[in-house]
Amino acid sequence: MRVLVVNCGSSSLKYQLFETDTEESLASGLIERIGQNGGHAVVHHRPQGRAEMHYDMEIPDHTVAAEEMTRVLCEGDGKVLDSLDEIGAIGHRVVHGGEDFATSVLIDDAVIECIQRNSSLAPLHNPPNLDGIRACMNVMPNKPNVAVFDTAFHQTMPRRAYLYAIPRSFYRELGVRRYGFHGTSHFYVATRAAEMLTDMGRDGANARIVTCHLGNGCSMAAVKAGKCIDTTMGLTPLEGCVMGTRSGDIDPAIIPFLAQARGLSFGEIDAILNKESGLLGLSGVSNDMRDIQVAVREGNTDAEEAFQVFCYRVRKYVGAYAAAMGGLDAIVFTAGIGENDARVRSYVLEDLQFLGVHVDSDANNNGRGDRLLTTPDSRCVAFVIGTKEELVIARQTEAICSGA
Ligand code: AMP
Repeated sequence: MRVLVVNCGSSSLKYQLFETDTEESLASGLIERIGQNGGHAVVHHRPQGRAEMHYDMEIPDHTVAAEEMTRVLCEGDGKVLDSLDEIGAIGHRVVHGGEDFATSVLIDDAVIECIQRNSSLAPLHNPPNLDGIRACMNVMPNKPNVAVFDTAFHQTMPRRAYLYAIPRSFYRELGVRRYGFHGTSHFYVATRAAEMLTDMGRDGANARIVTCHLGNGCSMAAVKAGKCIDTTMGLTPLEGCVMGTRSGDIDPAIIPFLAQARGLSFGEIDAILNKESGLLGLSGVSNDMRDIQVAVREGNTDAEEAFQVFCYRVRKYVGAYAAAMGGLDAIVFTAGIGENDARVRSYVLEDLQFLGVHVDSDANNNGRGDRLLTTPDSRCVAFVIGTKEELVIARQTEAICSGA
């Protein structure tokens, strides 16, 4: 089946077309700056094995963006389809499914209403996700649409892991609890790690795995026998690890303290914690780990400290999750930093010999692609595994639409 995977942000539409039988990607693209006042949107289209295309055009909303996506897939130099009839189904990334969705679902009116209801928990993400769903329904009527939620994989967490110790009424009446995000990525890399463990002659099916998704946003999950039992992100994607511009865990009393000390509003503090903190806030250099490493090499001590705080937080959660699962069989690094930054991996894994982790420096520093990072005598192994969220969305969409 050919499945079109769509991921909409407030001013962007990302797409990728898969042939699910072979898991081949036929084309991918990004339409950015949708609805920019007085400016043009930019379309980037990458047909597999052919030259990329980049062009500007007026795109006022997601429906026009979806029209352009279908046009470029079927016409002109970047054409990969003879007709839209070849698309069997559309899979949508949806950020927040609240407690309503523990798996992916075929989208109908009731599902749309539910996603809308959960918008209060993800006001920046669910509304544009819905815009994308509606745009695809307008432009490609009568095709099945499937929602794949970032939160779904974490719905297996036990109550002791997801309840905050605040009055229960906030959970009961407002849904204030830990939900977790990046679920599709954690699911993919945990599943791959279990397969790789099995290939090594270990018990992949029952393995205790910590997955570290370290990218622009960073989160970790504790996965036991394929099920998520804890994760670092919470009600929102602000909790947990240090990120590019997000603080991760802080003492909640810092908020009223800053409000009083600096006369800041809650909105201003929220913006500081989400957009001016993390690597950027600590280093004063950048939110991008590549820039941090350059600054470290130039002797910038604030950048080195930002790096250390980042890695130490990850290492601390590895220890916490090893305790939560009663031991640890594998640690997985994925996403932009996790897949590419050997120094981050090396610092995180330092001092984890007590868990049976023995790093193979050559594999860590010089290897490429999905691989083992530890020596054969390691009781607990570490892997780099490239995340493939779009492929998971395509697989799950196909499974739902073919009734599997
Ligand atoms: P992602 O959100 O997974 O696309 O990851 C984006 C982040 O990965 C960027 O902000 C960078 O900080 C980081 N990144 C990407 N490539 C590298 C690299 N070669 N070395 C270190 N960090 C990288």
